Amino acid sequence: MPLRYVCYDCGPRGSDGSGRCDCGEPLWLDTSTDAFDWDDTVDAPGLWRYEPLLPAPLPNPPSLAAAAGGTPLLRDDALDSFVGASVHLKLEGQQPTGSFKDRGSALALAAMEAGLVGGDGETTAIGTVSHGNMAMSTAAFAAAFDRPCVVLVPDDIPPERLGVIGQFDPTILRVRGDYGRLYERSLELGVEYGIRFVNSDSPLRVEGQKTTALELCEAFAPSTPDGIVLPVSSGGHASGVWKALRELRGAGAIDALPALYLVQAAACAPIAEAFAAGAETVSAVEGGETIAYSIANADPPSGTRALRAVRDTGGAAIAVDDDAIRSAQRELATEAGVSVETAGAVALAGAKQLVADGVITDDDDVAVVATGTGLTEASADVSAPAVDLAALDGRLAEFAGR
Ligand SMILES: *Cc1c(COP(=O)(O)O)cnc(C)c1O
Ligand SMILES: [Zn+2]
Repeated sequence: MPLRYVCYDCGPRGSDGSGRCDCGEPLWLDTSTDAFDWDDTVDAPGLWRYEPLLPAPLPNPPSLAAAAGGTPLLRDDALDSFVGASVHLKLEGQQPTGSFKDRGSALALAAMEAGLVGGDGETTAIGTVSHGNMAMSTAAFAAAFDRPCVVLVPDDIPPERLGVIGQFDPTILRVRGDYGRLYERSLELGVEYGIRFVNSDSPLRVEGQKTTALELCEAFAPSTPDGIVLPVSSGGHASGVWKALRELRGAGAIDALPALYLVQAAACAPIAEAFAAGAETVSAVEGGETIAYSIANADPPSGTRALRAVRDTGGAAIAVDDDAIRSAQRELATEAGVSVETAGAVALAGAKQLVADGVITDDDDVAVVATGTGLTEASADVSAPAVDLAALDGRLAEFAGR
């Protein structure tokens, strides 16, 4: 059956998902099922257990695809005290390349493998526009599925980031000019040259990223978490989470929608600003520098859809500053032993802020999504004095307080 696309606002839009709806909003896939219950999950690894809700079922996922999804949910008293509510930390850093992007990459490659997209035989390669986690993730899964992969990065990408992406050997092109325009341009060129560009909020990526919420809801079933806190940039992950919640409610697997709380870095917060202004749509902002570089998107392609998700679920979109992000990142490492990149700490910082604002209360159970590991970029300010072997005795005695 050919894939069918839907606009969340206008309804069914046929089988051409290469562009946007006439209204300007991004499309997503029609995967509606009338009935789904947790018993309908299948015996398959990681995210593939949700086969009945996925467009590209892979009951026997090959290679790296078997390792995508299925991340743990961690409880730690220190995090509860830090935030002021019951925190359930979703460890997306445990994905094969260290972020939730692996959910979308695995699903996109599986769909190509199954001939669900590019069935005309012309689309053989996959591509993406990213200089961070999505680039790494797409390149890794392309390698595992033996697909050519092209990654478009900005010209001024830091060399260490290039090295991390490059280890999977994709074709990397450093593009000069307006990087913001590449999102649209890549989709056009992809159609022309048979390259499936799976960018931040592409329909296939959204399907894969749905599974974050499916796992969260299943962990709480038959109840649901009171809230889900996510860092947001393009709005692709938030779209996937919202889509999952709608489908679960539609199928009767959950009866209440958890509130979706989206958190941005204060220096670049178009969605939080639109929410605060009571706006219906998200407009581009100027956008300044933040340490949470993975989520600094001044003109998010799925921003308006993410805003709609917030309103539909009775959530909120807020911004936190770099100090709050740093403090949450440090708390996670030093109190819970969890290394997250700056963007991955944003949700915890946001949860703390939402409690301070009285939006989340102390008896709430909140799922906080730590979206990416810090192990690929650890940069703690470390003091490690050098000591002569002969003096080690004395230093360890000092350390042990003897
Ligand atoms: C991509 C990314 C985000 C933002 O996700 P969007 O789908 O673009 O909103 C957040 N955290 C990390 C670690 C990411 O890599
Ligand atoms: Zn529409």
